[in-house]
Amino acid sequence: MNLLDSMSAALSRGTNVADRAAKNLKYEVRLREITRERQSLAAQLGASLYEDTKDDPDMRAGRERLYDGIAALDIEREQVRAQIANLAEQAQTEAQQSPLCPFCGSRVAGDHLFCSGCGRSIDDIRAAWFAQAAAAEPAPTPAASAPEGGAPTADAPTTADPIEVEATIVDNPRA
Ligand SMILES: [Zn+2]
Repeated sequence: MNLLDSMSAALSRGTNVADRAAKNLKYEVRLREITRERQSLAAQLGASLYEDTKDDPDMRAGRERLYDGIAALDIEREQVRAQIANLAEQAQTEAQQSPLCPFCGSRVAGDHLFCSGCGRSIDDIRAAWFAQAAAAEPAPTPAASAPEGGAPTADAPTTADPIEVEATIVDNPRA
């Protein structure tokens, strides 16, 4: 083998190596796809058979762990779904109890800094609530005006009861 033949053979080997690596990668990718598709189909087959065979003693024989495992997970799934629904209900109830924005009538959640309807700051909204409350009750009795704990701003009156303010706004919506 002369020098040119040797170089040609070496180049050819290099091409073969690269070619095999590319093919190998392609087959590995396809193998993963096949495995994933097979798992998906097997899961669908199992799910359809489970409903028809879960009470069949002959089918259950030797597969108790699988049948009981699915049944236990189904029960837990319903419990978790009920918890999620419960949280959503709590959030909705809380939102419905939020006071109305005096400027636009949107609900203003207690932890929001701005009205989601009109964008007014919570300080403006609180000031308007207190003004409404003061207008509705020009002469509040001292007993009904407990000091507000931790007044957020210097402008906010310290003698208005927040609960009373909310009730007043619900009775007299300006939206
Ligand atoms: Zn608003």
